[in-house]
Amino acid sequence: MRAFWLSLLFALPVSACGQPQNSADIPEPQVKPAEVIKPQSEANVAPPIPPTSQKVPSQQVPSQQAQNPKIGCDGIIAQGGAVLCHTLPKQRVKVGRSAKDFYYEQADDTGKILIGFDRDEKRALIDLELGDQYKYDFRFEAREYDVSHVKGLPPSQAGTYTEEQLKRIRASSARKKKGFASRAAALGFENGFIYPVKDYRKTTNFGAFRTYNGQPGKPHMGVDMAAPLGTPIYAPADGVVSMADDDLYFEGAMVLLDHGQGFISMYLHVNEVLVEPGQQVKQGEQIATIGSKGRSTGPHLCWRLKWRNRSLDPELLVDWPAD
Ligand SMILES: [Zn+2]
Repeated sequence: MRAFWLSLLFALPVSACGQPQNSADIPEPQVKPAEVIKPQSEANVAPPIPPTSQKVPSQQVPSQQAQNPKIGCDGIIAQGGAVLCHTLPKQRVKVGRSAKDFYYEQADDTGKILIGFDRDEKRALIDLELGDQYKYDFRFEAREYDVSHVKGLPPSQAGTYTEEQLKRIRASSARKKKGFASRAAALGFENGFIYPVKDYRKTTNFGAFRTYNGQPGKPHMGVDMAAPLGTPIYAPADGVVSMADDDLYFEGAMVLLDHGQGFISMYLHVNEVLVEPGQQVKQGEQIATIGSKGRSTGPHLCWRLKWRNRSLDPELLVDWPAD
């Protein structure tokens, strides 16, 4: 298990993108976790398992372990990171931010379940409900995030919108919502992520506090990688294209790759989209080229990663532990 993050540098106010705070009418897609099982819901719940306060009979655990010797959680224990847990097929897993604030998830057919941690996550409790040795209480150190100023945006990209523009913004949001609702079953990320651009200059780190034309905005949830127009962008891991759209208001042209279990990577402001929705892509396959469409002040890729509705730091996932 690892716990680390990158040392962060103050970013230059170039080649930037993101969402302004005053865009309250442009909601981030609120994707409901497809596999979430609410407490006490009877649908799709695995066979009842004794409450966690009760000890699972000790002879039961070794036999379960023998079926899957990898039981446990491993990954990037940091704000913006994620862990992959191995448990029993379809096993119920208790996940929470505290003992009182929790919900249930369900492992897939192979017993795997991914849990992501938000930019500002303080604590994550994961209980595989297989005994005390499979209860995790992750505490996250607060990361230090940069401050990044984006200047010189036209008013139409910084909070002053006409009715026509608002229509386009809402239409873009609706299409994005569909792309984010994708839930591929395959686990495309298990062999780790590679950088989607080979030669680039990083201009903004994940999580940076943002201002747009001097006005505070939402934090920047991606990594901005500047490179010449037309530079190839490659899939960082296997996945299926859940969205490929070249008419989005802020993102300009964007590709979404679904890597499984609600793990969706995003490629914003691209110039040329080279894939189609539903297409399977392999790690290293070209999906687009670098552009500057939408709210962008120069050719760059804004690379983002979400686990359901949480924003993760894609760069941390490049260090995903080898299986
Ligand atoms: Zn960006």
